[in-house]
Amino acid sequence: MSDQPVTTGLYLSPNMILKNPAYLETLKREIGLNLALINFTGELSDEVMKANPFDGSPPSDARIRSLLSHHIDGELCTQKLDSARSSIGPHVSPVFDEDGLREAIRQVHNLEIKVWLVGGGWTSSDFDVLMYCPGKDAVNTWYETLYVHMAKSYGVDGVDITHARYPMTSYPRGLFLCSCEDCAIAAGDLGYDMSSMVSDIHHSAQRLRTLDKDLLLEIARTKPGLWDLIQILGLRRGVLDWFCFRADLLRGNLIRFRNAVHAAAGKDFIFGTDTYPASLGMFVGHNQAAWSDFSDFASPLLSHVDIFPMMTLTKWAQFLMQNVSGISESAALEIIGQLVGYGSLEMPKTIGGYALGEPDCEFRNVPLEELVGLDMLKAKLFLPVETPSYPIIQGGGAPHEWPLEMVNRLKSLALDLGHNGVIYQGTSVLVDFEFR
Ligand SMILES: [Zn+2]
Repeated sequence: MSDQPVTTGLYLSPNMILKNPAYLETLKREIGLNLALINFTGELSDEVMKANPFDGSPPSDARIRSLLSHHIDGELCTQKLDSARSSIGPHVSPVFDEDGLREAIRQVHNLEIKVWLVGGGWTSSDFDVLMYCPGKDAVNTWYETLYVHMAKSYGVDGVDITHARYPMTSYPRGLFLCSCEDCAIAAGDLGYDMSSMVSDIHHSAQRLRTLDKDLLLEIARTKPGLWDLIQILGLRRGVLDWFCFRADLLRGNLIRFRNAVHAAAGKDFIFGTDTYPASLGMFVGHNQAAWSDFSDFASPLLSHVDIFPMMTLTKWAQFLMQNVSGISESAALEIIGQLVGYGSLEMPKTIGGYALGEPDCEFRNVPLEELVGLDMLKAKLFLPVETPSYPIIQGGGAPHEWPLEMVNRLKSLALDLGHNGVIYQGTSVLVDFEFR
């Protein structure tokens, strides 16, 4: 551990800060809060609006479609365009509160608490699988100009980008974005070949349908490694290339953004993005081992146990059941758990056992501490040693509250593993505070 003080962060909105003047003081006193991650609600400068790839407010459907990602089957990532129609530019709400944001920052700084502004990235809606294409220059120029504006205009200490990734893994169509012409060119520039990647993925999908359910289960029980899977599934290199390409594409773009932010706000200004859970990171384009190339910190996002790992395991098991004839639910869950790096955990044997959507689903049948601890450990092992890291855990926020003792043990574990602090989502189990 370094001599740096332990970082204790919390996600906040300007509104919450302004309406509850005593909240921050309480948090500073009781949990040692020293970092506020405030969602960006500021106005956009003329420079940012000039870089806006939308053609009006609201933007035309044709323009939205021209900016979105394409699936390898040729379809647009989504037909649900509502969230884009109601945005002023990619992943930015048209509702501003410039004065409120500035006042909130002032109040936080007065308490000697650092401020990072939180902005959005390419995946604007996980639930609609709506992703702006990371291979398009118009999209990347917009994000670059926006992040520079956030970094240089508010006197804050950092800019933290969330959703700077492909859609979350529990929506499997997101795994196969984006194969548009711009991404094909970007792939070529990075040394990949789009057409062979796409044909190798289709080959694997066909091959999967020929597998015998009993053989597959027996193989899963041997706890196969990477080369076992390559042999069993007859995986061609394009499948591995696909996931490496996506991580390389995001990496290059994020290097560009960080360079621009550092040029505008100074090299000590903090820029970076949160981190999908390590076990699943490569499925959303997050290569943790490369994190220091483009991010000044890592914040492994471990607070969404239900919609990240749990829903991924159940959705992928359902996919396997649809594609391998006769395979049982428990076998499918076991195989997927093994495949995505959770094979060492005692997970529910049925999809119903996951109790998804119920208030205690993350710890009723799921070994929450072991699961979060495993991804905390992996993050520490995969991340470059020089990257400070702050796992994001629940402090009592939507949608689920974890028991206080569990939260405290997970914080201790993070520090024991050598992380540099934690960032909380919500505080309802941490402190008693009546919100206004
Ligand atoms: Zn694309």
